Amino acid sequence: MNVGSGKALFLDRDGTLIFDKDYLADPAEIDLVPGVANALRRARTLGYQFFLFTNQSGIGRGYHTLADAEAVNVRMEEMLGLPAPLFTGICIAPEIPSQPSRYRKPSPRLILESITRFSLDPQKCWMVGDRESDMNAGLSAGICSAVVGTGKYTVSEWRSRTKPGVPVFADLAEFVATLDWVCQQLATCHSAVVYLIRHMPKPAEVNAQTSRSQILSQVLKCRP
Ligand SMILES: [Mg+2]
Repeated sequence: MNVGSGKALFLDRDGTLIFDKDYLADPAEIDLVPGVANALRRARTLGYQFFLFTNQSGIGRGYHTLADAEAVNVRMEEMLGLPAPLFTGICIAPEIPSQPSRYRKPSPRLILESITRFSLDPQKCWMVGDRESDMNAGLSAGICSAVVGTGKYTVSEWRSRTKPGVPVFADLAEFVATLDWVCQQLATCHSAVVYLIRHMPKPAEVNAQTSRSQILSQVLKCRP
């Protein structure tokens, strides 16, 4: 991982990393969304660190305890099988919707605090989840949001619910594959810029037909 890259994924749990089973409290009932482990492995090599950001109103409702939710998280990490620690931070919001929200999404509080605490770059951070509250937490925090069709809504159901600038993906794997592709394109473009800067004529050699700005503007046109 590129420590200090400022890149992070804020990940919802139920409906995004694992299938949503109402008020899940038994680690034996965890069902990973296919492709998630490989997606996280790839995202990590791209320099992203992860934050787990999950609303667990079952705690506030008295259906299960914080320890139950933590046990599910621990088992989920084991099942994912990536080198520990998987998450830079974990936030379990226990409030019920009618209670004043401290961290419960759509509150952006965890994201905002994490940006400051870990020197994250908001333009390089994503909130990924399966509900409007996930999408809105990311947008309110000023980071990017993406939504997946493995939870509350299918991809087609999302079409009428998503907000401008919030892409819809079949699942987390498709999101990371897209992120991977875009990063590769940017890297290719950046390499071209570096090459041209190194090889373009010196200012004293620039004639009427060639200028740095002209060359750069051509190069930058290939940016996605
Ligand atoms: Mg969810």
